[in-house]
Amino acid sequence: MAKITIDRERCKGCLLCISFCPKGLISVDKGLNQRGAKPVKFSLQANLNEGGIPLKVGNETSECLGCAMCAIICPDCCIEVYK
Ligand code: SF4
Ligand code: SF4
Repeated sequence: MAKITIDRERCKGCLLCISFCPKGLISVDKGLNQRGAKPVKFSLQANLNEGGIPLKVGNETSECLGCAMCAIICPDCCIEVYK
C-alpha cells in the first residue's frame, strides 16, 4: 500500500493537494504551523467502515494509489510519496 508524508511545518495551506487527490485522502489538519498557516494531513485510508476496513465501490479501493499527483502539484515540495 502506498503512502505519503507531508512536511507540516513547510505547508502553506494552499489546499491544492486536496483538490488533486483522486481518493480524498488529504484534509486540513488542526491548528497552525510555524508559518501561521493551516497545514494539511494525510489519512492512510478514506471512508473506513465501522471495522476500520476501507469501503470499496466495485473494484475501486479508497487506499492511496501512489499516483503522486499531490506531490507534483504542491508548489512548496512538502509531499513525498512512498510505494
Ligand atoms: S499519491 Fe495520489 S492517491 Fe495518494 S495521497 Fe497523493 S494524490 Fe492521493
Ligand atoms: S499543496 Fe503543498 S503547500 Fe499546498 S496545502 Fe498541500 S502540502 Fe500544503
